[in-house]
Amino acid sequence: MTASPAADSLWPTCLEIDTAAVVANWQSVRRGPTASVVKADAYGLGATKIAPALHAAGCRHFFTAHPSEAMAIRDLIPGAMLAVLNGLWPGLETDFAANDLTPVLGTLDEVDRWAAHARQNGRALPAILHIDTGMNRLGLDASELEVLAADPARLGGLTMRYVMTHLVSSECPADAINETQRIRFAAACARLPAMPRSLANSSGLFLGADFDSELSRPGAALYGVNPTPGQPNPQRSVVRLRARVLHVRDVPQGESVGYNGQWTAVRPSRIATVSVGYADGYLRSLSHRATAYFDDQPVPLVGRVSMDLSTFDVTEVPGLAAGHWLDMIGPGGVDALAAEAGTNGYEILTSLGRRYKRVYL
Ligand SMILES: *Cc1c(COP(=O)(O)O)cnc(C)c1O
Repeated sequence: MTASPAADSLWPTCLEIDTAAVVANWQSVRRGPTASVVKADAYGLGATKIAPALHAAGCRHFFTAHPSEAMAIRDLIPGAMLAVLNGLWPGLETDFAANDLTPVLGTLDEVDRWAAHARQNGRALPAILHIDTGMNRLGLDASELEVLAADPARLGGLTMRYVMTHLVSSECPADAINETQRIRFAAACARLPAMPRSLANSSGLFLGADFDSELSRPGAALYGVNPTPGQPNPQRSVVRLRARVLHVRDVPQGESVGYNGQWTAVRPSRIATVSVGYADGYLRSLSHRATAYFDDQPVPLVGRVSMDLSTFDVTEVPGLAAGHWLDMIGPGGVDALAAEAGTNGYEILTSLGRRYKRVYL
């Protein structure tokens, strides 16, 4: 008989998610009614844990992208508005109605199908109307808005919870598109029956009072991504990602490390190998770029990130040994790691892998 290993030693990696910090971040950006965007599994952090915590803190409006994401949390946030950003595709009307999902209607066809469903069933159904003001992805375009404005009876049978639009460049306050979208949105709202408006995402909340609305829709800021790039991050960090050092070895000068020999030791070096790789969302584009931390001491990643492993030059950290933990996300938070990977904090978070031991604080 073999003894079973201690549960903790099964896990060479650990992702700590500070649910209380998510709630604190939500409270800190609140100015009036504020939704929580929990699409993509709450930006990779686990919607079934995050959404109930926000609900308990008083959040009553939630947004997912897909209906399946909404179904996964519907019962966990009783009574809350649960809206599906990517719309109402044909055939799902009954499911949306049965589960009290609020579709974000982005075409006249969606408006008509949802209103018809409401009238057929003799019950008012909740809806959000999406107006495109510059993104050119989803939302009524100018000609569809024209048609609806001329015939608002098409909304008959619907309870219009909000009319919304989505900002293209809100994290760039100097971009003139912000003001253009604000003006276009105001003009669109003026042509439609009166209903509450929903405008700002995380960064939009930092654009000033002109961008306030009856419901803001922050996502990233709840999860610690800096909504004000280039300025200090006003949000609390939410994730801690640690990986145990599997092995430390001496690499002689002139030897290379990792696939394709992309890094060569220019001096006798000590290389620590940890079991985090691109299969964990530790992106391959971090090769040669990322920094991990041993306590507060930075250690540079060397060579290519592999699927399950990455390697760090710890020559300057003589005390470091197998079994020690490295912090894979440093004091700069997900934004700093994102910069090293050439992406944004959103992609770092939503890429976080499934095989970390996840601990919710
Ligand atoms: C993702 C999304 C948000 C949240 O954006 P953040 O930048 O993460 O705050 C808000 N509204 C819409 C329509 C979205 O798609």
